[in-house]
Amino acid sequence: MEIFKTKSALSNYLDSQKAENKTIGFVPTMGALHDGHLSLISKALETTDIVVSSIFVNPTQFNDPKDLEKYPRPVEQDIAKLTAAGCDVLFLPSTEEMYAPGETWHIELGETERILEGASRPGHYQGVTQIVNKLFNLVKPDIGFFGQKDFQQVMILRKMVEITSSPVKIVMCPIIRETDGLARSSRNIHLSAEEHAQALALSTTLNTIKDSFSKWSVEEMEAHGTALLTASPGIILDYFEVRTVDTLERTNNKEEALIALVAASVGKTRLIDNMLLND
Ligand code: AMP
Repeated sequence: MEIFKTKSALSNYLDSQKAENKTIGFVPTMGALHDGHLSLISKALETTDIVVSSIFVNPTQFNDPKDLEKYPRPVEQDIAKLTAAGCDVLFLPSTEEMYAPGETWHIELGETERILEGASRPGHYQGVTQIVNKLFNLVKPDIGFFGQKDFQQVMILRKMVEITSSPVKIVMCPIIRETDGLARSSRNIHLSAEEHAQALALSTTLNTIKDSFSKWSVEEMEAHGTALLTASPGIILDYFEVRTVDTLERTNNKEEALIALVAASVGKTRLIDNMLLND
């Protein structure tokens, strides 16, 4: 695997690959890699000629400085995992390489960036669009691979490529879970054994709501999900909401494709999860 730390070195290498008409797949990450990330690498390997991954803990998408500080950074292990997975290129830039001092700008993405995660983490999607836009301009991939785990992020990035007339195709890949159902996340490392067990309430509640889809209205699904999670030991619920898959809007119409999205803290760790309800 080729590893580059500067934009110019990465661009030079990718220009030579593109000159040979190779297609580029891109998997941006913040590192602390797990099977969820590696599933995106596998999908990219199946689909494109050259697979580029990046590891960059993007400071502008963290609204909590403590969360940024304690975000895990096991770079050597990540390099070993990417190498074993068959990733071709890793981009590993410093913050100075990616941002000018005091840089602020924003692509206005409308309501989608102000609801759910956007409401709970002000400025989060501003940071996400800043870094992904920069990385797309640099890597110029044919396809970007992203996880359904961050469903709203995929919606945001689809909007971003539309607004910026970017030619990058966004492919969404399924959520990878631990055998007990917990969605894999770099933040799971912070959970104690007890907190891990408590965190299972997120996926079990999503499954309960999905299993009862035919008998409940949207309002009842939200009420039941909220009640189950509020009553779960160790769970501090942020939101449990049912929205449309296409636009993340509220609806009462169960004929539309619907998704349930949940965010909650377990101890000091904030977790998110979601499930398509009528697929
Ligand atoms: P992150 O490193 O958390 O920024 O995630 C990098 C990419 O991996 C994003 O596209 C995430 O949606 C994706 N991802 C994270 N966790 C999972 C998971 N459990 N299953 C599938 N994709 C995931």
